[in-house]
Amino acid sequence: MTTSSGLGSRSSELPKEQWVIDPETGEKSVKVGDINFPPRKVWMKTFGCQMNYHDTERVLSHLEGLNFTKTEDQGDADLVLFNTCAIRDLSNQKFYSKLGDTQHLKKKNPNVKVGVGGCVAQTEGKELINKYKHLDFSFGTDVIDTINELVYRSYAGEDPFAINTWDRSQNFSIETKVTHGSPQAFVNIIKGCNKCCSYCIVPFTRGKEKSRLLQEVVDDCRKLVEYQGIQEITLLGQNVNSYGKENGESLAKLITELDKINGLELIRYTTSHPYDVSDELIEVHGSAKKLSRHLHLPVQSGSNSCLERMLREYTVEHYLGLLEKLRKAKPDIVLSTDIIAGFVNETEEEHQATLDLLTEAQYDFIYSYAYSQRAKTRASRWEDSLTDDVRGMRLREIQAHQTVIQENIRQTLVGKKFTVLVDGHGFKGGDKKWKGRTNCMRIVHFLPENIEQDLQWHWVDVELTSATAFSCQAKLLKVHGRRMPSEAIRF
Ligand code: SF4
Repeated sequence: MTTSSGLGSRSSELPKEQWVIDPETGEKSVKVGDINFPPRKVWMKTFGCQMNYHDTERVLSHLEGLNFTKTEDQGDADLVLFNTCAIRDLSNQKFYSKLGDTQHLKKKNPNVKVGVGGCVAQTEGKELINKYKHLDFSFGTDVIDTINELVYRSYAGEDPFAINTWDRSQNFSIETKVTHGSPQAFVNIIKGCNKCCSYCIVPFTRGKEKSRLLQEVVDDCRKLVEYQGIQEITLLGQNVNSYGKENGESLAKLITELDKINGLELIRYTTSHPYDVSDELIEVHGSAKKLSRHLHLPVQSGSNSCLERMLREYTVEHYLGLLEKLRKAKPDIVLSTDIIAGFVNETEEEHQATLDLLTEAQYDFIYSYAYSQRAKTRASRWEDSLTDDVRGMRLREIQAHQTVIQENIRQTLVGKKFTVLVDGHGFKGGDKKWKGRTNCMRIVHFLPENIEQDLQWHWVDVELTSATAFSCQAKLLKVHGRRMPSEAIRF
């Protein structure tokens, strides 16, 4: 165990945890070395992508071993953690403002510990520790599985420290941790990214690609299904299409194996890079029974010259060819994408090419953002002639153009039936409405049979009654219960 504080130092293993029960009060505590961990609360705020949400799940699950339970009330927490995102400027600003707020928390209760993890901690951990005097520790993306050791060190009285070392081991091996009690799980299959898109900070925050072995992922998923009641699995990675290359394995082979697991109903994967979408994977979209009918395939721009500056490694023609092949293999596949509006020095012609691509691709939905510069990236070193006003205008044009497309697509769905896994509810106009996602990722809202009916995590059949570009309303046809039965419509 390292006791010196040195920024960036890496410690050895945590002393063995031992659960102790007080014979008088019955209170459980965990003893680690000389330190006693009574029941404590952890509050954790996540920014950014699904990978970060997945990492947060892992952190919270590990912390159960140190007697922490999750709280939604920051004021009630003994340990306050942030999982940060370096990709979007907005996330970054929100994080810094929330981190500043925790100063007051610590003034009120000096025993509160504050830690920052994730992408910002990976690239700026030491600066954070030096700048924010109330911060106890920071931890990068590759050390999240050592969170208990870091928390232990902080409670052992160590001076504030930052850990942002990379995991140098050859293999990437983990076991999926779930704490939320839902039938949906994210399973990380590959970490890092070997691409070098000129606008992206991820290669700096997540390192080089490393895949888990196929058999390990299959065993992990089988256990999730058998012992934790998981029915829907989303395979995660910065570039899942690159999965397994270093081991002679592939995403297509993995999906084919997962498709055989009894009790697993739905397989999704994200995020994809068009360059690495193989013919073998396209075939699997046609053959795998449990693979979602939805694919999110980020294109970023509809202009070849812009794609070249972005270092995306494909052309518009190649990309559209992929969509054609996918639609041939799975005629009812639903497609979505990401668009960056106003990339560095984007011309009006390049912008128009993106609008044309939207028309041609007919996406069901898109995520679109105005380009924002990230420090350390190649694009951040270029002179840029575009103003934020132009970017904002182009973003609005892209969104308006896509709204018309998706409104037309969704109108054709009215009268169609879908099986939906219900994941929540809300109130609209005084009515309680449940909501869930179809196999093809469309969010559907519907009224229950009566106000008391609890449909959380039930599979239900619905029929679409109306649709706009952004919302689908439906009527409830049948409640199947918490397991998908064989007669469900499965769409
Ligand atoms: S593929 Fe490109 S955009 Fe995606 S994570 Fe890798 S570098 Fe970033």
